[in-house]
Amino acid sequence: MNEPEIKERVAAFLGEHDPAGDRLEFLRARFDAGLAWVWFPEGLGGLGASRELQQVVDRELAHTPQITSGVQGIGLGMAAPTILAFGTEEQRRRFLRPLWTGEEIWCQLFSEPGAGSDLATLATRAVRDGDEWVVDGQKVWTSGAHHSRWGILVARTDPDVPKHRGLTYFVCDMHAPGVEVRPLRQITGEAEFNEVFLTGVRLPDDLRLGAVGDGWRVAQTTLMNERVAIGGAASVRRGGGMLGAVLDTWREQPELRTHDLHQRLLALWVEAEVTRLSGARLREQLVAGHPGPEGSGMKLSFARLNQALSGLDVEMRRDLGYDDWAFRRSETVDFYGRGPGYRYLRAKGNSIEGGTSEILRNIISERVLGLPAEPRVDKDVPWKDLPR
Ligand SMILES: Cc1cc2nc3c(=O)[nH]c(=O)nc-3n(C[C@H](O)[C@H](O)[C@H](O)COP(=O)(O)OP(=O)(O)OC[C@H]3O[C@@H](n4cnc5c(N)ncnc54)[C@H](O)[C@@H]3O)c2cc1C
Repeated sequence: MNEPEIKERVAAFLGEHDPAGDRLEFLRARFDAGLAWVWFPEGLGGLGASRELQQVVDRELAHTPQITSGVQGIGLGMAAPTILAFGTEEQRRRFLRPLWTGEEIWCQLFSEPGAGSDLATLATRAVRDGDEWVVDGQKVWTSGAHHSRWGILVARTDPDVPKHRGLTYFVCDMHAPGVEVRPLRQITGEAEFNEVFLTGVRLPDDLRLGAVGDGWRVAQTTLMNERVAIGGAASVRRGGGMLGAVLDTWREQPELRTHDLHQRLLALWVEAEVTRLSGARLREQLVAGHPGPEGSGMKLSFARLNQALSGLDVEMRRDLGYDDWAFRRSETVDFYGRGPGYRYLRAKGNSIEGGTSEILRNIISERVLGLPAEPRVDKDVPWKDLPR
């Protein structure tokens, strides 16, 4: 399928579906017409077309009802590609449509109090009981769990084998008895994320994603997509994004301009431009296949830049008052609709979420640059024998 053909499809779709009508019906119809994510297979929101044609569709449908991508970031960026890659036909049909339309929100139940960077040490147990699994454990930093219908969950199903091998990946029913969600407050004063307690939660076996014991491989697909989703999925215009906010401050407050600030702003401008162009290249690579370790580089740059730019912005705005640091509650991360104080504090989390910057440097050094690997003394030790 080429650009004129896809435009024809969109025109035919708009001829049959009035964008001014019911929002949800319009979004469902868009999914059914294969115009949700065009590179997905037919019947699953796509047309089996090239991923780059999605930009054409998005442009043509820019003035029609849109999906709420903020609160569904984990669903769209991470759960959907994992379900597509590892889900059964039944699971793909059950989950993808309400995920895309936003009728069912998703969260990510990976991190635990004792397992973050070294995720494979996680301790949440899933024990088979007939056609069900009984899950017990605690997850933490679970963004959006308080409005989620489903969670992507990694649990330990075999403690007798080394840590990476005894894991299985599930879809967790967040409404099941035994799932308890408690808010955690962040430095911004908000509570985007939660701790989630799982006590005797029964999940039917048909909520398992991938084979028993193959959870680490399935989780890798999620994590690779997460780094791309955080670091490089959205295209930013030249001088836009977080850089745009700082440039506005620079223009609005000429009295603050010093040679030193100018030099620093220029250096960050160059770095932002290199990151922006690397993002464009990454998106081209995505057209050709699944994200690789290169996504880690984008996420690393994104975090560093966000922190440096939001810091410079706060430094230049010497007039910040109480209101700039007092926050209203919000459902989603919103870097550009909020003040500089919010941006500065929220950007701190960018070098932690989705893999810390130290871990991403390890991945880049080993898997992109081919440098010697970190010593991994526990990789052949059964999980149950690891010191905790
Ligand atoms: C805003 C935000 C949202 C999040 N949302 C979610 C979510 O929805 N779902 C979810 O599952 N998790 C979520 N997380 C959790 C996040 O994935 C973890 O915080 C992260 O993976 C780090 O794990 P940790 O906090 O346990 O830190 P640790 O792993 O304990 O790390 C502590 C420090 O040690 C460093 N370190 C650890 N190992 C190494 C090493 N081998 N080499 C060098 N340095 C090392 C780390 O870089 C870090 O500085 C979120 C986090 C944030 C900040």
